Amino acid sequence: MQAVDLHAHSRISDGLLTPRELVRHACAQGVRVLALTDHDDVAGIAEAREEAALWGIHLVSGVEISVTWRGRTVHIVGLRIDEADPTLNAGLAQLRASRLARARRIAEELDRIGIHGSLEAAAAVSGQVISRSHFARFLVERGYAADVRSVFRHYLVRGKPGYVEHTWASLEDAVGWIHGAGGLAVIAHPGRYDLTPVEVHELFTEFRDLGGEGIEVVSGSQRPVEQERFARLVREFGFFASRGSDYHGPGHNEVDMGRLPALPEGLPPIWQDWPEVLPAAA
Ligand code: AMP
Ligand code: MN
Ligand code: MN
Ligand code: MN
Repeated sequence: MQAVDLHAHSRISDGLLTPRELVRHACAQGVRVLALTDHDDVAGIAEAREEAALWGIHLVSGVEISVTWRGRTVHIVGLRIDEADPTLNAGLAQLRASRLARARRIAEELDRIGIHGSLEAAAAVSGQVISRSHFARFLVERGYAADVRSVFRHYLVRGKPGYVEHTWASLEDAVGWIHGAGGLAVIAHPGRYDLTPVEVHELFTEFRDLGGEGIEVVSGSQRPVEQERFARLVREFGFFASRGSDYHGPGHNEVDMGRLPALPEGLPPIWQDWPEVLPAAA
């Protein structure tokens, strides 16, 4: 029951492994259907697909799009997208450019509290997607925190040094780009957002009205107790359920690939009609 993993990152965004290494790791962990979902970039998919073919596993082309919804950051995963779609790529290119502008502002904020050189350090370890994870690794290296997870308790989050407000894509644009590229849209780790139950309801309603298909019910970056809550909402709204580790690399996740629980009983999996997922593999 652990063969499908529809959320993972490579070095193209803020993961630690190359797309090739990620696919090999997934394969070794027993994953047979893997989605590569880098933040705001699809540049790793071709390499991942090539490697997956060598190992006889299936690579789902994916992306995790950064969205601003009512002033809050929400992540929308696109699955089975045509990664060459021009409109999708233009949108993602814009998001990546805005990441660079944000990174400059993050570095200025860190400069203010006497932490210098962060932009150069973050840029040196990132590709075309520069993220808070790259700043977090720099802060760990400099000894400001013991590990990446604890950095995010004291830095780079709202109210702490190194946080800057930023506006990402709209929910409508993100869902539109994914659909335009022939893909399915999924709300990533819904338990991670700082939303009230009413706001979650409103987000799900808006997402459904835009034609969004799925919700990540089982996520490596969401507490397991959230699963039942989101399973109920998936039933109520008539969404499909998704599952993904949100793997970023060795030591960066509580749950390794291939170690996620199955979807709760009776939920329609987003891969229900995918010919590449054999019933036994789900
Ligand atoms: P960004 O999209 O640049 O704002 O960076 C967000 C990324 O930072 C997420 O995708 C995670 O990989 C990482 N991140 C955010 N919050 C945390 C946290 N509390 N612990 C570990 N990683 C985090
Ligand atoms: Mn990330
Ligand atoms: Mn995310
Ligand atoms: Mn992710």
